Amino acid sequence: MQQKILSSPIGKIESIGPAYSHRLSKLNIYTLEDLLYHFPNRYDILGHVSKLNSLNIGDKVSVEASIWQIKNIRTKYGKLLTFATINDETSSIECVWFNQPYLTKSLKPGTKIGLSGKVGNFNNKPTLISPDYEYIHPGRKPIHTSGIVPIYPETKGVSSKWLRNKLRSLLDRQDFLDYEFLPDQLLKKNRLPKWYKSLCDIHFPTNSKSEKIARERFAFEELFLLQLSAQKRKNEWNESKGATPLTTDQEDIIDFISNLPFELTKAQNRVLKEIITDLNKDKPMNRLLQGDVGSGKTVVAAIASYIAVRNGSQVVLMAPTEILANQHYKTLLTLLKPYGINIGLWTATKKSKGEYNIYVGTHALITSKEFPKNTGLIIVDEQHKFGVEQRAQLRSRGVSSHFLTMSATPIPRTMALTLYGDLDLSIIDELPIGRKEIKTYVVPKQKRNKAYDFIKEQILKGKQIFIICPLIDPSETLASVRSAKEEWKKLDNEIFPDVNVGLLHGRMKSKEKDDVLNKFKAGKSSILVSTPIVEVGIDVPNASVMMIEASERFGLAQLHQIRGRVGRGESQSYCFLFTESENKDITNRLKLMEKSQLGLQLAELDLKMRGPGQLYGTAQHGLPSLKVADFRDTKLIYRVRDEAIKILDNDPLLKSSPRLREKMLKNIVTPD
Ligand code: ADP
Ligand code: MG
Repeated sequence: MQQKILSSPIGKIESIGPAYSHRLSKLNIYTLEDLLYHFPNRYDILGHVSKLNSLNIGDKVSVEASIWQIKNIRTKYGKLLTFATINDETSSIECVWFNQPYLTKSLKPGTKIGLSGKVGNFNNKPTLISPDYEYIHPGRKPIHTSGIVPIYPETKGVSSKWLRNKLRSLLDRQDFLDYEFLPDQLLKKNRLPKWYKSLCDIHFPTNSKSEKIARERFAFEELFLLQLSAQKRKNEWNESKGATPLTTDQEDIIDFISNLPFELTKAQNRVLKEIITDLNKDKPMNRLLQGDVGSGKTVVAAIASYIAVRNGSQVVLMAPTEILANQHYKTLLTLLKPYGINIGLWTATKKSKGEYNIYVGTHALITSKEFPKNTGLIIVDEQHKFGVEQRAQLRSRGVSSHFLTMSATPIPRTMALTLYGDLDLSIIDELPIGRKEIKTYVVPKQKRNKAYDFIKEQILKGKQIFIICPLIDPSETLASVRSAKEEWKKLDNEIFPDVNVGLLHGRMKSKEKDDVLNKFKAGKSSILVSTPIVEVGIDVPNASVMMIEASERFGLAQLHQIRGRVGRGESQSYCFLFTESENKDITNRLKLMEKSQLGLQLAELDLKMRGPGQLYGTAQHGLPSLKVADFRDTKLIYRVRDEAIKILDNDPLLKSSPRLREKMLKNIVTPD
């Protein structure tokens, strides 16, 4: 069994074909391997096969028996019933199905079947009511009607039953038996079962323990492959020497820092030291600088840029959007122009001509001819917003440059280690002193009107308000969750009849969106009702209140990001977290927002409490998720990382494990 077979397109697999391959693509299944790795999300525990003489009315049972006789009957009310008598070596019992007359064609007398269902009282006789059934294949255990039955994520036209059938016959193929890509020793040391056994046990477990151990193997495997490729990238990076060491003249730096209009925080000083140590080496830096919006990353980047320029190098600062590029450009101008440093801006609409010490740009710059030849330092803001391709291009343009990546997305440590295992981490975990905290309150429904009164006062003071709703349109299934459109109507007409209320959501044309936003920015509307799209870089310093409806539906990291839209001006700002929920766990979780103003801390807490699922909400963050492993499994994450480092230390090219090598290379795309 080779990786090649595992990689073969699903449509080429015997008895699957193009129609199913189209349906399976909806489940992200494209290859044989994807199908084998489509794991059950739960199991029905049907239990052992009972003998027919031991059945009692009311029992849910699994049995194996033969059809003795079978016939259709029409009742006087016109209903079609199918009656069958089945027997095993101990006894016989009746079965009944409703409106399935075709059963008499498939379940002929003499057919051996497995059944599962409830024993009811029908016509005063113990009867299996509408049981599920399956044919018993010689030499194969039932997979649908007894034991532990896997239930899969399904899609239209692909049922769990279909998946069970396919997976069972695939696993019965002999060519899978000895496939393994993890080294024997690694498995032994970590007490993990082999690949084939694990697959059998996760799809068709014989008991819950074997299923659990199988999942452990796949969790290990998943993390191990991620770590292996991250460590491999890291090693390759470390081998690419020839970076220009960017040395520092202590006094010069101290001078620069003392001329800043503020004192650096302890955290800023710490990360700066980490960065300077890296810059001093001839091995290119590859560091991720994490910190909330406003924690002072840009200033740190400016100091690093200053050092580079002092060393005669050029600097490139990449931003994911034109707005951010403009912002960085202005900040750098203020901080560095007084030192005679030239800064150029390079975006889709503005392309500075000439030679500069520092180039601030969007991805347009990456492929441009103007990309500076003498780049010693590349700074990337919000790198996960750049595609894999763009990042690879950027790297190829500055192979020997020092790289500093900045991110305001609060990524808990175990996630960062797994997803960015090749980067060194620097974290700014405090905000500059004097920063006004955004006063945050969880508001139960009894206090809603008081909050509205507060908003009225703020509007009278000339302030502006954001109101965030999770949905655009009302939803039938989530009747209690307020939608942006409905809320907007109500607020505009009933609650704030004298106030201009704007509406913003993702399904509006971009021209409409711009109009609404510009009106709000210009103060022509006082309230903006919006879906969470305002999360991304909207700056209205005059907004003083952020109100979030159905706030329990958001992750804390996301709430924090939304909250960060206010508190940008001089005056005190507020965040109201509305919830109709009276569940203590939910309100306690939300109350953490009252206590913390640090995104990373909130993300860590949320991860611990709820798992990674809804940490960031929408797809905007672009962070990958794990299939089997859990970012909360700190011990495993560190253990796996050690193993990956060790194995590459001993055998950098993985010569002794060609299959693992193949897997790793396949995996070497920067996680997205
Ligand atoms: P980030 O890039 O992390 O969002 P910035 O570097 O843009 O943060 O800083 C946000 C604001 O705080 C800027 O106006 C900056 O001048 C200011 N600032 C940065 N560091 C400090 C500090 N140590 N003390 C006071 N203000 C600071
Ligand atoms: Mg910033």
